[in-house]
Amino acid sequence: MDDSLYFSEQHHQVREMVRDFAAQEVAPVARELDRSSTFLWDNVKKMGELGLLGVPWSEELGGAGMDQLSYYITLHELAKVDASHALTVSAHTNLGTSPIVEFGTEEQRRRYVPLLASGQVLGGFGLTEPGAGSDAGGTATTAVDKGDHYVLNGSKIFITHAGVGEIFSVTARTEPGKGSRGITSFIVTKDTTDLDEARRLGIGHCADLPKTPGVRAGKKEEKMGWRASDTRELIFEDAIVPKENVLGELGLGFVNFLKTLDAGRIGIAAVSLGIAEGAYEEALRYAGARKQFGKPIGSFQGVNFQLADMALEIQAGTHLLYHAAWLKQNGRPFKKEAAMAKLYCSELAMRVTTKAVQVFGGYGYTTEYPVERMMRDAKVCEIGEGTSEIQRIVIARHILGDIAG
Ligand SMILES: Cc1cc2nc3c(=O)[nH]c(=O)nc-3n(C[C@H](O)[C@H](O)[C@H](O)COP(=O)(O)OP(=O)(O)OC[C@H]3O[C@@H](n4cnc5c(N)ncnc54)[C@H](O)[C@@H]3O)c2cc1C
Repeated sequence: MDDSLYFSEQHHQVREMVRDFAAQEVAPVARELDRSSTFLWDNVKKMGELGLLGVPWSEELGGAGMDQLSYYITLHELAKVDASHALTVSAHTNLGTSPIVEFGTEEQRRRYVPLLASGQVLGGFGLTEPGAGSDAGGTATTAVDKGDHYVLNGSKIFITHAGVGEIFSVTARTEPGKGSRGITSFIVTKDTTDLDEARRLGIGHCADLPKTPGVRAGKKEEKMGWRASDTRELIFEDAIVPKENVLGELGLGFVNFLKTLDAGRIGIAAVSLGIAEGAYEEALRYAGARKQFGKPIGSFQGVNFQLADMALEIQAGTHLLYHAAWLKQNGRPFKKEAAMAKLYCSELAMRVTTKAVQVFGGYGYTTEYPVERMMRDAKVCEIGEGTSEIQRIVIARHILGDIAG
């Protein structure tokens, strides 16, 4: 692809920096972290030092002072080597930090964003509930007004960083019977579940940050992929949330979270494309090195047509991704394009990684090569931040309006 369409010199520099980091610090540990399902704490510290946990936020707020494109480039490059690293950055930056940057008061921004943007603590976003997944407007968690505070009861499931993180934006119902307009967002805090790791590394915990009584993490999910990323339930038991922690306007919590998800979909497109490219590059190398019938397997049409299809789809996905990213960066409407990029890139990641395993034959099915991990990591890209079916609904509504409901 002609990168100059979308990238400036600074974007190329960011890409090189993240590529170097991924090759030197991520590649050597990705397989073991996946095998043991261990959170990537050491690299959280290193990514924080490099500014990768606050790429698009201003230096005033403790961020790296770069732009949205730099952020998507970061996810894309990390995911080529390991999706869990990319997802950690994505969940922390877009889901965990952007709602406070975009909908928070000056006081909320000043209090929480520097801690998050510097990587001092990790953040997350709680929308999904046991009975409210694709239909997130069906939020059942309640927030009852008690004068100077709200009392929250309920739980959020599959929350990235629910264990390791300390700062969360969550939704709860403030007005029963008002549908999605009766949902409000709140900022809640808790201690990380990994205090020992946090003490060892000097990041991951802020003792001075007042914690929300009644908020805790549930048990860790055992997952097919994204295994070095932390996914748990986030539980509210008579959680006392001061009114100063209401995030955005009362009743607009759901509407605002949908905006956060639109941007998040470009991020998942970047993660997906990175996984696909990583698997393609592995398959390309292997097809040149592996010999059968006295020739490199890449010389057989049955194999090289697979590689040609992968290259074609990756090129198409790259344009969809960076077009959506460019629209967002330049303040243009991007909802449809974000859904298209997410849908196409996540499904292409599944197709490309499956083909890559096939190119590797039996070795592809073992953990000796990373393609089996990439295939497992690709699957959830079709589910998280809106399933493929939900992306099709978003696109259909854009092109058909009311006819598509
Ligand atoms: C690893 C991981 C990390 C996650 N991280 C977070 C997080 O940080 N924060 C958060 O809030 N959530 C998170 N999620 C939750 C994720 O966003 C939801 O799993 C997803 O939105 C789907 O919801 P569900 O699992 O309840 O599936 P359901 O909504 O029950 O869907 C089940 C199936 O029905 C289909 N379906 C549902 N409705 C329709 C329809 N109208 N038309 C056609 N098909 C339909 C779906 O596409 C899907 O195939 C995470 C999930 C995973 C697996």
